Amino acid sequence: MKAIMKIEPGPGAEVKEVGIPEIKDNEVLVKVMATTICGTDVHIYMWDEWSSKRIKPPMIFGHEFSGEVVEVGKSVKSVKPGDFVSAETHIACGHCYMCRTGNAHLCINVKILGVDTDGAFAEYVAIPEANVWQNDRSIPPEIASMQEPFGNAVHATLIEDVAGKTVAIFGAGPIGIMSAEVARASGASKIFIVEPNEFRRNLASRFGKFYILNPQEVDPVEFIMDMTEGIGVDVFLEMSGAPKAIIQGIRSTRKGGRVSLLGIPKNNVEFEEFAEDVVFRGIRIYGINGRLMFDTWYRVRELLTSGRVDLAPLITHKFTFDDVDKAMDLLIKKQAAKIVLYPQKEE
Ligand code: NAD
Ligand code: ZN
Repeated sequence: MKAIMKIEPGPGAEVKEVGIPEIKDNEVLVKVMATTICGTDVHIYMWDEWSSKRIKPPMIFGHEFSGEVVEVGKSVKSVKPGDFVSAETHIACGHCYMCRTGNAHLCINVKILGVDTDGAFAEYVAIPEANVWQNDRSIPPEIASMQEPFGNAVHATLIEDVAGKTVAIFGAGPIGIMSAEVARASGASKIFIVEPNEFRRNLASRFGKFYILNPQEVDPVEFIMDMTEGIGVDVFLEMSGAPKAIIQGIRSTRKGGRVSLLGIPKNNVEFEEFAEDVVFRGIRIYGINGRLMFDTWYRVRELLTSGRVDLAPLITHKFTFDDVDKAMDLLIKKQAAKIVLYPQKEE
């Protein structure tokens, strides 16, 4: 089968012919219909510091996908050939403290599909039964593939309610825009989006009615304060990973407000006024890791099948595996949002 691989440490990727994975008793084999590229895949492609420590080549990467089950292992009961599936990408151990207390998304022994195991940028991928998500048949394969990052947005946005609340989102990458859509669909009032990249601001403006700010032109804290009677937003969703955005976002949050941190900072986040910014502000800060298993997935399905959220406009490009370099280049230059990669040309 064809697969996008990291053959050895270093930047880039290669499209290779390799054997179809052999499934274990508790796994299912999925024929991949569509995959989408995540920021993590871009990091693996570029071979940043994180990936050089975590990734063990040779390996197949990619983890956002949908496809059809073609074979199931001996002990598999809930999945059968022909099922249209995607997967929760956190492969939890099922035995640790976190798993046994309903927090499998925080499993101490977690393995991530396409990071710690062979992934989905392939014609076939092997998935543990416990990770299979049965897709609603009305969801197109490309959209079904995006349920995993959409789940990040749903988890981060709805960890507390947003109805009738003001929301500030820093970072209009795919997950930031998805979060704005979740907030809008869930009844948020004013929604502010802060994003320095023009392509992404333009993309965000094609969705709901948002206040979209360029932090290089306006001070987002001042703007948000002016628009919220001087008290700040009820909810701040951090979707950029930029240290500056984390601090500005918190300073845009009202006293007693809620903060969800999803973006992963590469550098230290230095608070000059920790007591003023955080302690005396009385805010609740949630670190967001993955998706609740599987509470988030049910919400994802309902938001999509009810038509409350349409992710289609986020897809800016569609390529086949052979064009992986072109796709990665567009993402590195931030001239794309979601890119679909098909194993082969659509028939
Ligand atoms: P992305 O990199 O495509 O988007 C981030 C956006 O933030 C970019 O458009 C960038 O221009 C913008 N940005 C940069 N500096 C900014 C600033 N100062 N203010 C406002 N915006 C700024 O990422 P994505 O795929 O949408 O994911 C969002 C973040 O979430 C990333 O940091 C990613 O690593 C992280 N992530 C976390 C989890 C988790 O489980 N915690 C899962 C997936 C992704
Ligand atoms: Zn565990």
